[in-house]
Amino acid sequence: MNPLTVSAILRRREMLTRTGQGILAAGILGMASEPVGADPQPPDLARKPIEPPTPEPEPALPPEQRVGFAILGLGQYATRQILPAFSDCRQARVVALISGSPDKARKIAAQYGITGENIYGYQEMDRLQRNTSVQVVYVITPNSTHRDFTLAAFKAGKHVLCEKPIAVSSSDGETMIRAGRAANRLLMIGYRAHYEPFNLECIRLCRSGELGRIGTITADHGRQIDPSNPADQWRIRKELAGGGSLVDIGIYSLNAARYLTGEEPTEILAKMESPDDPRFREVEATVHWTLRFPSGTLANCSSSYDWLDTKRYRVQGSKGWLELDPATDYYRHHLRIGRSGEGDRTRIEEPQIRERSQFARQLDHMAQCVRENKTPRTPGEEGLRDMRYMEMIYEAARTGKSIKVR
Ligand code: NDP
Repeated sequence: MNPLTVSAILRRREMLTRTGQGILAAGILGMASEPVGADPQPPDLARKPIEPPTPEPEPALPPEQRVGFAILGLGQYATRQILPAFSDCRQARVVALISGSPDKARKIAAQYGITGENIYGYQEMDRLQRNTSVQVVYVITPNSTHRDFTLAAFKAGKHVLCEKPIAVSSSDGETMIRAGRAANRLLMIGYRAHYEPFNLECIRLCRSGELGRIGTITADHGRQIDPSNPADQWRIRKELAGGGSLVDIGIYSLNAARYLTGEEPTEILAKMESPDDPRFREVEATVHWTLRFPSGTLANCSSSYDWLDTKRYRVQGSKGWLELDPATDYYRHHLRIGRSGEGDRTRIEEPQIRERSQFARQLDHMAQCVRENKTPRTPGEEGLRDMRYMEMIYEAARTGKSIKVR
């Protein structure tokens, strides 16, 4: 994608027109082809041991010692999940808003006790630079804008927490990572499941060997995309979203397969399909893909913008299985574990794990990393890996050939 400046993003936002392009062709699984793309690091062949769940940062800091966040983009996710989560934080606090909608920003600022001088437009990064109470900019805008907002925040001397997907191409992701390094600032991606207790327990179960050898993982994320919802309008525009269900929610299936195994895939097959429906003029509806991992685990994953809500995964091991359904919801996770019981019976457990705000834990983790100058658990490189795999999934679906990951 060609670079978009912040002002070009704003112009394009106003000029959104329905220029239908053909949907990507459906792929057919086929024979192996030449390797495409490569991870900068060789895949780690061993299952990585699970790091302990992000500890609650101790102690809860007084407001003036907390790390100050500016929220950039006041849409659905920012206003309904992230801003309210600051009340559960121990080390992070919201001190500024950056928005293209001044009236909305003023109203929200009043709700969170943010004063007028701490409200910024997208063109006011120079003024933001002088605001020393802001240490982190949290980018929560349409995918194709992540790159330039991130670069602008680095230029203003701030650390960046950026929503998933990192960007709309791996080259944009690489640019963001390089810019963070050059500015000596942290880049973290908002992979909230890495901070969510049920997902952390599933990672532990998979990597500890409790389930035995893991044969297969299935991970599915789907919903009906609804163009009457403003938050879904840009999601069906290729220029803003970068792709369809895969980059928006399929990324949860992909990332889960990677965090459950602790491995990087070596081979990818994929198939993509879209019904004849105006919602899918520019972006795909449904993607199915298979990842082969070095240990032999196969992950069968899917995503769809044309399904009733689903966000779940299932792991089948030689000594047990687990199902997390929903797996990546905001709350109300439900875990079932099957283990060998008496005789041929499978013993089913439904562990009660205390729900915690994954949003607050994610914000506090970023704050802690800034305070201690530590690499976040989900750095830019994690986002870049997923971006590269998603490009390979599209390529495998387009060509009908499997992709060997070097
Ligand atoms: P929304 O459409 O609700 O919000 C996006 C906001 O971005 C807008 O309200 C607007 O804020 C700002 N914006 C800046 N440039 C543009 C533009 N060109 N077009 C439209 N809006 C623009 O989207 P979501 O909140 O659902 O998603 C935002 C990001 O967050 C996406 O990257 C998405 O993938 C991610 N997300 C992550 C989730 C998670 O669970 N981790 C869940 C949902 C979304 P303003 O009016 O203030 O300028």
